[in-house]
Amino acid sequence: MLKGMSMESLQSPRGFHDIFGEKNERIKKISLALRTKLIERNFQEIILPIVEYAELFQRGVGQLTDIVQKEMFTFSDSKQRLLALRPEGTASAVRAYLQHKLYTKPWVKLFYEGPMFRHERPQLGRYRQFHQLGAEVFGISEPYIDAQLIEILWLLAKELNLEFRLEINSVGCKVCRPDYKLALIEYLHSVKDSLCQDCLKRMDKNPLRVLDCKVQTCQEATKEAPFAINYLCSDCKTHQDGLESALDSLGIDYVINPRLVRGLDYYTRSVFEFVSLKSSLTLMAGGRYDYLVEELGGPKTPAVGFAVGLERLAEELSFEVKEDELILVIAFGDVLDYALKVYKHLCAPNRRVDLIFKPPKKGLEIANKVGARFVALVGQEEKSGSFFTLKDLQTGFQERIELYSLKETKTE
Ligand code: ATP
Ligand code: MG
Repeated sequence: MLKGMSMESLQSPRGFHDIFGEKNERIKKISLALRTKLIERNFQEIILPIVEYAELFQRGVGQLTDIVQKEMFTFSDSKQRLLALRPEGTASAVRAYLQHKLYTKPWVKLFYEGPMFRHERPQLGRYRQFHQLGAEVFGISEPYIDAQLIEILWLLAKELNLEFRLEINSVGCKVCRPDYKLALIEYLHSVKDSLCQDCLKRMDKNPLRVLDCKVQTCQEATKEAPFAINYLCSDCKTHQDGLESALDSLGIDYVINPRLVRGLDYYTRSVFEFVSLKSSLTLMAGGRYDYLVEELGGPKTPAVGFAVGLERLAEELSFEVKEDELILVIAFGDVLDYALKVYKHLCAPNRRVDLIFKPPKKGLEIANKVGARFVALVGQEEKSGSFFTLKDLQTGFQERIELYSLKETKTE
């Protein structure tokens, strides 16, 4: 037998989950609310492949990131090219932007939704397959577009009654980051006795990532560290000021978190996170990545985007998802064709209709068990008289409905 399989009980692999019932309803609701906002703002959906060449993420997300170093699910094709289940959507969106020469357009606004895969240690809010809805804007460098993306998430968070804090920061650009990095590396060396093993490894090559380390001692040790926002060149400063004043004029509250760096290499200038006040988890996040298109072989193109973790967001919410009321057709006796006719006629928007073949008593027991609001009884007598018996299980009210009047049947 294959490893990991047992005949008694097959389980989904660790970190991989079935999503159904209430959680699925919540995710659908969040997705619809966000998609609607994006479409209203001239974004277009792109369906990206789940598999890409691993090189895309190695070059795009960065060799030194956690995602590439330890979180990718990879496998080889028959020509020994290394493929990866996508760990995120931005690199794929950039690849598509280049492959289809979308840079010939004045600007491009895309959104995508689907599963992402990361080989992480599973825990609440952290899975090996999870879903993101992300948006990317290519070709606009001004900070109003960063503010517009933040506003979309802000409106979504408000609509969902989320308890959150919006954090923003700037991580600088090619002009100002080298000096900042040197200052940070120097500082990190001075506190290296307090840093964890991972941070000791990354402090020379990827020092910004140390500021994002969740280990308590690393956080303490970097309290007095130099922060990028204090080292910005004049263009980055202008961008950051522009973003702040755009957010102010949109009435969006934010805090500047100078430690905020995000885990991926490609960010430049603005980065932002919506952090849950309940769980402290980051629910939605993004930032600007002005060099990524060029680094992946395209023309110089400013870009900015975000990604929303749908499971994490769904787990934060407490709203009740109201299902449409269920009408259960209970057919008994030799009435198959007639029952299907009744079933077909009852199906209508905003109703759920289902059909079972059971004697009336057993059928009613089942109807109660599955929470049906109405039952439509269909037996020999109903068939002969071209009617069915509709019963409201909440009030007990029962009426005979002629088949020809079915279309007018009201269930409310
Ligand atoms: P974290 O620091 O929490 O690991 P990240 O920086 O890796 O997050 P991004 O790559 O920016 O996250 O992804 C954006 C969003 O996707 C996150 O804010 C989160 O909501 C969600 N997300 C990321 N990784 C996971 C995961 N393993 N399981 C579930 N959701 C995730
Ligand atoms: Mg992560």
